[in-house]
Amino acid sequence: MDCLFCKIIGGEVPSNKIYEDDMIFAFRDIAPEAKCHVLVVPKKHIGSIDELKSEDGEIVAHIFSKIPEIARLGGCTDGYRVISNCGHDAGQSVKHLHFHVLGGEKLPLHINGSME
Ligand code: AMP
Repeated sequence: MDCLFCKIIGGEVPSNKIYEDDMIFAFRDIAPEAKCHVLVVPKKHIGSIDELKSEDGEIVAHIFSKIPEIARLGGCTDGYRVISNCGHDAGQSVKHLHFHVLGGEKLPLHINGSME
């Protein structure tokens, strides 16, 4: 499958890894929009929130249970924002479910984790 984040998870494309376990992978965004900008992705290829199935509930719960630790590891020391862009109108550019974790500084309201 020609998926950038699958290649990052597999080590085929280099990344600045923050955290990994059997279900998820977290790495620094290549074009950070805040001092701390980490992407958290499931290892299973899921295109977006739109493609989540009820059996993926454990993965989503695991992602959110780990986000506080990943945020701290990434340098979000005093709060953070979590965003998932889904589909065209939200500006989703990589079609592998991911959660932007933004922080490390006071965030302006317009930051939305999207390159567009
Ligand atoms: P989105 O626009 O919500 O789909 O977010 C995709 C994010 O992936 C953007 O913030 C990009 O900066 C980031 N990105 C693209 N390529 C890479 C890469 N090779 N390593 C790390 N982050 C990347």
